[in-house]
Amino acid sequence: MLKNIKVIIRLRVLDAIKQHSQADSPLETGGVMIGLCAESPNLLSVVVTSIIHGKYTIKTRTSLTFTPETWASVWGILDANVFYSSNDPVWSITGWYHSHPTYGVFLSSFDIFIHRYFFSHPGGLALVIDPETEEWGIFGHGDDSIVDESENLKFIRRIPQENIEVLTDTEIIHRLQEMKINIPAQPIPAQELI
Ligand SMILES: [Zn+2]
Repeated sequence: MLKNIKVIIRLRVLDAIKQHSQADSPLETGGVMIGLCAESPNLLSVVVTSIIHGKYTIKTRTSLTFTPETWASVWGILDANVFYSSNDPVWSITGWYHSHPTYGVFLSSFDIFIHRYFFSHPGGLALVIDPETEEWGIFGHGDDSIVDESENLKFIRRIPQENIEVLTDTEIIHRLQEMKINIPAQPIPAQELI
């Protein structure tokens, strides 16, 4: 049975994703999202607190490829970050983001392949943004038992906008306290671990 999913994303993270996608437009760009997943019986909450720009990616106007060097760079940045590497193992890579310059918010069949292959955990998210219109959306894993959809899309669902909250830093800290999750003593960097 598929759980309801709720996404809490930090406003500064959303702004950083917009800036990154606009700086590289008309080429696609992207990176990984960092945060945590918390489960209750009927709800999976995913909190996104930071991003790491994908370095050494292969970018075109219609594609983005993460290379082995991209992943090595992500792991290096995570290892070097005191909070994320040692404080609490619940903090981890929660998904990825990438841009679709001028062509809208959806997942291509290649995107779906990437998402299922590299971000297969239940809370794995894919954020897509069109840097021209600033439209964005978040996708999560669907229910494999649904058979009446097209071949690939049955595995993916777009998270309804009403299940996504964009919060300020103060609001996120309050929310993490309510969820009884350790708050870092140092501020959580929003980008590269931001
Ligand atoms: Zn794409």
